[in-house]
Amino acid sequence: MSNDTGETVDVLAIGAHPDDVELACGGLLIKLARQGKRVAVLDLTRGEMGSRGDAGQREREALAAADVMGIHAREAADLPDSRLANTTEQQRAIIPFIRKYRPSVICALMAPDRHPDHSAAHALSREANYYSGLERIETGQPPYRAPRMYYFYPYAELAGAPPCVVDISDVFDTKMAALRAYQSQFHNPGYPGPATHISSKQFWEGIETRARYWGGRIGVEHGEPLYTDAPLPLATLPGL
Ligand SMILES: [Zn+2]
Repeated sequence: MSNDTGETVDVLAIGAHPDDVELACGGLLIKLARQGKRVAVLDLTRGEMGSRGDAGQREREALAAADVMGIHAREAADLPDSRLANTTEQQRAIIPFIRKYRPSVICALMAPDRHPDHSAAHALSREANYYSGLERIETGQPPYRAPRMYYFYPYAELAGAPPCVVDISDVFDTKMAALRAYQSQFHNPGYPGPATHISSKQFWEGIETRARYWGGRIGVEHGEPLYTDAPLPLATLPGL
């Protein structure tokens, strides 16, 4: 899957590794796609340092998950797994994707996070979006800066109470189906390869536990927390 049509999107979700966006905001992306929004995913790496599967298998799994989510495009930036760092060189590798898709909204990883790649991806995504708006950084494309960014956590919530929780109750089953596309990564009895933290039964069950916790915080069945670093415009008060 790629963006061969050259069309822009409404939302660009940027993860460090394939499966980050499904874990953290898969429900949101499924909802937006069903609402007719054009959604693209950019995986900064191909997850080639994962203990199970290889880059080819991870790519097939990521594209299968994209199909389940119903999104428009998915690409990889081919930055090195386990060596993400907020450098000029890595920012410049991301800018062409922002200028190609020209999203109204970017969803990116939140920091701090226990995985160093995730924290690096937070800074990289923010700063690449800023510099993407500068005319004098030349990529052969017009400059573009997404006007709004939201942030998500795949595993943990370390930054205090989120300002938003998305109600994903009606798409939670589809989110889990997208995650099951990652046959090499998550709980999958009989799959060859070493046991990992995320391949444990406890981790798989924890995905629903977290979704139910966040859903409970807003009075629904399943939710996904979302952070922002800019004020959210309100036309009325939620709760009225
Ligand atoms: Zn990750």
